[in-house]
Amino acid sequence: MSEKQFGEWFGVPRKEIPWYPKIDPATCIGCGLCAVICGRGVYSYDLVDKKPVVVKPYNCLVGCQTCANLCPVGAIEFPDPQMVRDEARKHKIFTKVKKLLNEKFAHQLIETAKSYSEEISSQEKKMKEMDSKNK
Ligand code: SF4
Ligand code: SF4
Repeated sequence: MSEKQFGEWFGVPRKEIPWYPKIDPATCIGCGLCAVICGRGVYSYDLVDKKPVVVKPYNCLVGCQTCANLCPVGAIEFPDPQMVRDEARKHKIFTKVKKLLNEKFAHQLIETAKSYSEEISSQEKKMKEMDSKNK
């Protein structure tokens, strides 16, 4: 899991967006779920202190709060999600989203068009067959 992989968010340097978890050590019971559940290597876990440690905060997926949602004692905090919405507007990410959307789902549109075209050809063939029978 490389740092580089998560270095940007829609072209914005990831370190410009202060979105990452903060743990309240007094509330944390050390269950380790957050450290295990995060797929981005944000956490390590101190087996001596029995506490998670945020080691790669900027690997955190902007807007994700899965670990906080799953923490059994609510020991993980994130900034107000409004901050993410504001960042999205400030950096005009929706133009990039539209481009990515087209790239990601264009093949679906092509597949749908193909299947319509096949359906129409099949219907036309059936109608021609019916016409020739009725002659
Ligand atoms: S999930 Fe919550 S209680 Fe468990 S280790 Fe993480 S912060 Fe602590
Ligand atoms: S919010 Fe998501 S990406 Fe960020 S540390 Fe928690 S589980 Fe990992």
